[in-house]
Amino acid sequence: MGAPSAIDQLQRVLEPRCIVTDPAELLVYESDGFTIARARPAAVVFPLSTRQVVQAVQILAREGVQIVPRGSGTGLTGGCVAFDDGIIVSTARMTRIHRIDLDNRAAHVDAGVRNTALTDVLAALPGGSAWHFAPDPSSQRASTIGGNAATNAGGIHTLKDFVSSNHVLGIEMVLADGSVARIGASDGCHESPPLDLPGLVCGSEGTLGIITSLWVRLTPKATAFRNIVGIFATQADACRAISDIIAAGHLPAAMEMLDGPMVQIIEDAYHFGFPRDAAALVLTELDGVEDLLDEQMRQVIEIFRGHNPISVESSADPARRAALWKARKSAFGAIGKISRSYCTQDACVPRSMLADVLAEIGRIGRRYGLQLPNVFHAGDGNVHPIFLYDDRDQRQVQNTLAAAEEILRYCIDVGGALTGEHGVGVEKIHLMPYQFDRATMEQFQRVKAAFDPAQQFNAGKLLPSEKVRVTLLKPGRQAPQ
Ligand SMILES: Cc1cc2nc3c(=O)[nH]c(=O)nc-3n(C[C@H](O)[C@H](O)[C@H](O)COP(=O)(O)OP(=O)(O)OC[C@H]3O[C@@H](n4cnc5c(N)ncnc54)[C@H](O)[C@@H]3O)c2cc1C
Repeated sequence: MGAPSAIDQLQRVLEPRCIVTDPAELLVYESDGFTIARARPAAVVFPLSTRQVVQAVQILAREGVQIVPRGSGTGLTGGCVAFDDGIIVSTARMTRIHRIDLDNRAAHVDAGVRNTALTDVLAALPGGSAWHFAPDPSSQRASTIGGNAATNAGGIHTLKDFVSSNHVLGIEMVLADGSVARIGASDGCHESPPLDLPGLVCGSEGTLGIITSLWVRLTPKATAFRNIVGIFATQADACRAISDIIAAGHLPAAMEMLDGPMVQIIEDAYHFGFPRDAAALVLTELDGVEDLLDEQMRQVIEIFRGHNPISVESSADPARRAALWKARKSAFGAIGKISRSYCTQDACVPRSMLADVLAEIGRIGRRYGLQLPNVFHAGDGNVHPIFLYDDRDQRQVQNTLAAAEEILRYCIDVGGALTGEHGVGVEKIHLMPYQFDRATMEQFQRVKAAFDPAQQFNAGKLLPSEKVRVTLLKPGRQAPQ
């Protein structure tokens, strides 16, 4: 019983290149982007087909080993970390695009296809460049479509395009007993049966089974854009402008906010030319029918002007658009230049509460002596305070965790949600009972039990479990000797 016996059997059914057991190589798989949660898996396997996933699941379930599904490992909540000698089953090498059906606006892809890889392949087809897979997490060059579905990922354009579950039509997945389930629509059919099972699996964070392939929606790309950048002297003015734009009935493709500290960090690193004394920068993108955009832009500018901006810039120039998005997407690179470690938190709050939430984040950061710049999807109230810390200093790690918890509790208290797009993983699991009452938590556990009665898949993620012991970072960790 256990991991050593499972590894023996896995080595008999998988090619040597599809199984990793060398401690030095396993180091890479100790964490995802939330590096405070670390554990070395007993092994990592890379099945190449659904059949191999079935074989791996059968062996691991028989041996009672925790099965931890993984895509590219870009998650930000520790969701694909294997605690307690678990074994990671990564779908990252299942990268076939089985079918692209432009007539029915759908594609059938393996779970390991990277988000942008599908759009890149579409671009090479006759007529295909007009289409894309719309969910656009900032990790989209690396993260997999299976991982996007499992976390119900969002992105900069979630405000208008919605999250991944709205783009997943059907799912093939391997269940705990090794059977293969196909749920939702398939073969280009858009309508799911009445019970939205793909909607249930999206966002289940690898706790219900391993997604092996997906039928996804293809969406026409927008072709006409306007960008408006509002610079504000107070965060409160910026937040009210954002709420008023939505309240006035506009639906921008994106509305992103950088607070003052974040603007300074980006300026120090890349010199885009934003004013260093700004308290907030709001980058808005409108898309749609060319003839209507100028009038819509005029109305949005007017709303910005009603909230004491330092400046409002507008543009229809594709080069300026590219430069603005480059600046926005440089945020994490700029942070990497100034901080040894960082983690990005994620919660969702009513837009009308954004100003209060940002003020509270600032207060909590000061109390714990932490730098907490913010860059986030303001249009959908999805806040992302970024914690800068030094992972060698246990006190800073503990302060980060304590401050993160206070922020999340505050977001829930003002009517928000524990996650906007990154999921729960191990990072926020202890706050699930704070957000949901006992009856709801029991319902969640019943859903889990219906799919995975023996808790083989990713126990201790998303839903509390007695089965797996989760430990967070010890300072000064070294590579295994
Ligand atoms: C720089 C950066 C920017 C990011 N920006 C965004 C953003 O804008 N929006 C956003 O939503 N997220 C963002 N993320 C978080 C992350 O990229 C997403 O959560 C992404 O969807 C994870 O995909 P992955 O393939 O890396 O999955 P992993 O990290 O490998 O896994 C994530 C979770 O999904 C489960 N899982 C993965 N594959 C499968 C499968 N085949 N079957 C079942 N379960 C599976 C895992 O068990 C785990 O719980 C960002 C991350 C980084 C590092």
